[in-house]
Amino acid sequence: MNSECPLLVIQCKFHEAGCAFKAERLKMKDHLSNSTEAHLNALCDLVYARKKQLENQRERIQLQKEHIQLQKETLLLQKQEIIDVRSRAANGEFIWRITDFTRKLMDAKSGRAAEPRISEPFYTHSHGYKMCAGLWLNGVGTGRGRYISVGLQVQVGEYDSIHKWPIYPRYTFTLLDQRGDHKDRKDISAHFEPQCISRPSADRQLGKGARRFVLQEDICHGSYCKDNIVYLKFQVALKQPPSGFFRV
Ligand SMILES: [Zn+2]
Repeated sequence: MNSECPLLVIQCKFHEAGCAFKAERLKMKDHLSNSTEAHLNALCDLVYARKKQLENQRERIQLQKEHIQLQKETLLLQKQEIIDVRSRAANGEFIWRITDFTRKLMDAKSGRAAEPRISEPFYTHSHGYKMCAGLWLNGVGTGRGRYISVGLQVQVGEYDSIHKWPIYPRYTFTLLDQRGDHKDRKDISAHFEPQCISRPSADRQLGKGARRFVLQEDICHGSYCKDNIVYLKFQVALKQPPSGFFRV
C-alpha cells in the first residue's frame, strides 16, 4: 500500500498554489501546521491570478462578440445594397436559368426536392413592385405529373408604401428555344391575368400562373433543354403605373 506508506516522499498538497515542499509522508503534518500563513498567501495569489485570467477571457469574448456583430451589420448593408441595385435595374422581366434540368425533374418526380422552387426576387420597375417566380417541375393541380407549372407572386417589397394598390398585372411566361439558328426558334409562351392583387403583408409562395405550361417530355426532347440547361422568362406588365412618380 504505497499510498499509505509513511516513508513515501510526497508533494505538499498546496503545490498547485506554488509550494514546492516535498518530504516523507510522516513529516508532512509538521510542514502543514508550520506553513499555514505561507499557504494562505499562496492560495490568495492563486485566486487573484485566476480571477485576472477570467476577466481577460471575458474581455476577449466580448471583443469577439463585437467583431461578429460588426460583420453581421456589414453583411446586412451589403444585402441592402444588392437589393437597391436590383430594384434600380429592374424592368419587370426575369430569366430563370435552370441548370442540371433532368436531375432536378427526377428529384421533383420522386419527391426528393420540395416544390415549388422559388426564384430570387426581381422588380417590375425601378423601385417598383417586388416579385418572385415559382416553378413546379412536376406540375401542380391539373398539371401534376406531366406538365411543368409556372407562377408569379407579388412579395413584400421595399417600396410598397409609395405604390398604388391593388394592382392588375398581366403575366407572360416563356420557355426559350435554344436552337442554333435563331430564325427557327419557337419559344412557347402563355399569358395569365390574375383578378387583382392587394398589398401583401407577408411573403407568400403560392404563385398564380400556368399549371399546364409545357409538357415535361416536350422540354426534354426538344431544343428547349441544351447542355441540360433550360431558360424560362417571366414578364410582368401592369395596367397602371405603380405610383404618380412613374411612367410606364
Ligand atoms: Zn507546503
